[in-house]
Amino acid sequence: MALTDHSRRLEAIAPYKFAELEQQVADKKAAGIDVISLGIGDPDQPTFPHVVAAMQGAVADPSTHQYPSNRGRLEFREALAGFYERRFGVEIDPEREVIPAIGAKECIYNLCFAFLDPGDVALASDPGYPVYTGGPLLAGGEAVVMALNPERGFAPDLDAIPAEALGRARLLFLNYPNNPTGAVVPEGLFERVVTLALEHEILVVHDNAYSETTFDGYVAPSFLATPGAKEVGVEVFSLSKGYNMTGWRCAAILGNADAVTAYWRLKTNVDSGLFDAVQLAGAAALEGSQAPVNEMNELYARRRDLVVGALREIGVEVEAPKGTIYIWAPVPEGHTSSSFAELVLEQAAVVVSPGSMYGTSGEGFFRISLTTPDERLSEAVERLREHLA
Ligand SMILES: *Cc1c(COP(=O)(O)O)cnc(C)c1O
Repeated sequence: MALTDHSRRLEAIAPYKFAELEQQVADKKAAGIDVISLGIGDPDQPTFPHVVAAMQGAVADPSTHQYPSNRGRLEFREALAGFYERRFGVEIDPEREVIPAIGAKECIYNLCFAFLDPGDVALASDPGYPVYTGGPLLAGGEAVVMALNPERGFAPDLDAIPAEALGRARLLFLNYPNNPTGAVVPEGLFERVVTLALEHEILVVHDNAYSETTFDGYVAPSFLATPGAKEVGVEVFSLSKGYNMTGWRCAAILGNADAVTAYWRLKTNVDSGLFDAVQLAGAAALEGSQAPVNEMNELYARRRDLVVGALREIGVEVEAPKGTIYIWAPVPEGHTSSSFAELVLEQAAVVVSPGSMYGTSGEGFFRISLTTPDERLSEAVERLREHLA
């Protein structure tokens, strides 16, 4: 064994498959070619001014300078409870049913350590956010994927989950509006999941990263608004995407009080909480005007229409999503996800994400992110029209 050999757990995580594509992008840039990346989902617009101002005030207040508590400041917990009531009609007890998270990613990862032992299974939608499969593996458990296909409106087929996996399942990860497919929750899915979770004693984790990013009048529900949801599940709410706060690491877990306590107990061993000033800024974002959120949605909807129009012109059949910052589209006949991504890079110097990056069921698709400034996005779209039509 060599000094820097990885642990078996780390080794079990599939190595980053697109190192090759990344290298090709780097080579092109080194050769002076102007590559436009539509790969990464990270809002290009700044955090709203009133949130920045709240942060500036909070940073100047010495009461934010010491270790935060993992339970979180009462101001932030109350702001989250108030927001859940106003926005989703969900009642949250700020004392027992919510604590801050240092981003949804941290929360999902640590939930795996709080609930999985060797031999335990986490059910994960596929394609999906990579932590749903990586987290369980690193925690010493297993991930069993549930395929999301357009034929089912990107709902997992709960009846197709093998009985053996259901028997060992402790966690089930869902995410609507969905990354990477852009799908909104299919009718009745949350209700069916509550029934399944009660029957098999599985804790449902709904990753709510995109409820505030929706278009065409669609309003996304909280999983916790489903009857019985609080008995079987938690929701991870993140301010990253909807409030242009990816760098701030501002999120929370809400719902089942025992699950929230288990997560808190784990975290007291792992980290020392979310910076109090970030919690106060998060409270300002949730309690202040939501008009900037709507303006962002108008911006994304315009970009979405631009991209969808161009894709249709080059023969890609794609539906305009009602939420998220992504377009999920099938690759043209004769291509795999990665061969198409390579072709787009070669011909148009534009980076799109191969769908297979998000799991086996993502093969045959590619993802375009709408978080590139207007001018660059228009330029990318022109190049697709010019070189791929
Ligand atoms: C971006 C994203 C996250 C990450 O949220 P953070 O709060 O920034 O960690 C979580 N889940 C999904 C589905 C995402 O797309």
